[in-house]
Amino acid sequence: MRRKTREIFIGKVGIGGEHPITVQSMTNTNTKDIESTVRQILELEKQGCDIVRVAVPDREAAESIKKIKQRIGIPLIADIHFDYRLAIESIKNGVDGLRINPGNIGSKDKVKEVVSACKERQIPIRIGVNSGSIKKEILEKYNGVNENSMVYSALEHVKILEDLDYRNIKISLKATDVQLTVNAYKKVAEITEYPLHLGITEAGTPWNGTIKSSIGIGSLLLNGIGDTIRISLTGDPVEEVKVGKQILRTLGLLRDKIEIISCPTCGRTQIDLISLVNKVEKRIGNIQKPIKIAIMGCAVNGPGEAREADLGVAGGVGCALLFKKGEIIKKVEEDKLLDELVNEIEKL
Ligand code: SF4
Repeated sequence: MRRKTREIFIGKVGIGGEHPITVQSMTNTNTKDIESTVRQILELEKQGCDIVRVAVPDREAAESIKKIKQRIGIPLIADIHFDYRLAIESIKNGVDGLRINPGNIGSKDKVKEVVSACKERQIPIRIGVNSGSIKKEILEKYNGVNENSMVYSALEHVKILEDLDYRNIKISLKATDVQLTVNAYKKVAEITEYPLHLGITEAGTPWNGTIKSSIGIGSLLLNGIGDTIRISLTGDPVEEVKVGKQILRTLGLLRDKIEIISCPTCGRTQIDLISLVNKVEKRIGNIQKPIKIAIMGCAVNGPGEAREADLGVAGGVGCALLFKKGEIIKKVEEDKLLDELVNEIEKL
């Protein structure tokens, strides 16, 4: 069962409470380069990104937010380190959320100024603890980098905001180590009701990062923990969104596309199943239907799986049986299988 969390809104997108789990990403363009940043965000939107974050390292980047916001459809978060003026400027320019750690802003007055600007426009703040940037004193107190020092670090930032009567908060506790990340999120989930933004930080290239993130984020989601996710990949952010959405689909938390079940093939396979599945995947990639199709190589497991799906294929010798809602509807020659299957999918 999903953990109960407080509800917050980044723009119009709800996080926590009963809201569906969202997928976020971060641009890797220079935020001052408005054209490239907008182009990338629109591409992320096309892939189903729910919320996007941009780096705001200086005043010019904060000013760009205004123009970027006018041309995109999804909520925008400003990622700020240390400089409270950039937070204020980003809020003035219409940003929907901030990623800033109040403990790193400086004097109480500066934090107060940021918080009152956030209060005025109902801008949530994400407190983001990274295993690599925990304060020395906390590391000493909790014996180095572990779930205790990560959670304590987050709670210290939370307290600063709560003392200013601000609870429009979400929390992330990211580490490069999967087990540590999972432990830290589990721990914080026991002691706070704030929504959690999940991620494995600096997870690596798309291949490694996808595996690391799927295991870490996937196991937390399976335990009902997590309200929004970001896959952190060294590559095109579009890949982050694709992976994030697929993790949600795999866990049954998102039903927007066709799910393909296919067998691994073996010595019994008598049709070119691998090529068939790849071609089907390409042809139906853009079809938005929450259905299940099973493409199986033979009659051993094939008919069983094929019957469970909305549409199914069980391969034979140079041909296959086509199933619809559990019933055999026709026998199709191998060379016509792809078209027949896609045709039936479109009819559903
Ligand atoms: Fe082999 Fe048939 Fe299983 Fe596919 S479904 S792996 S062909 S036994």
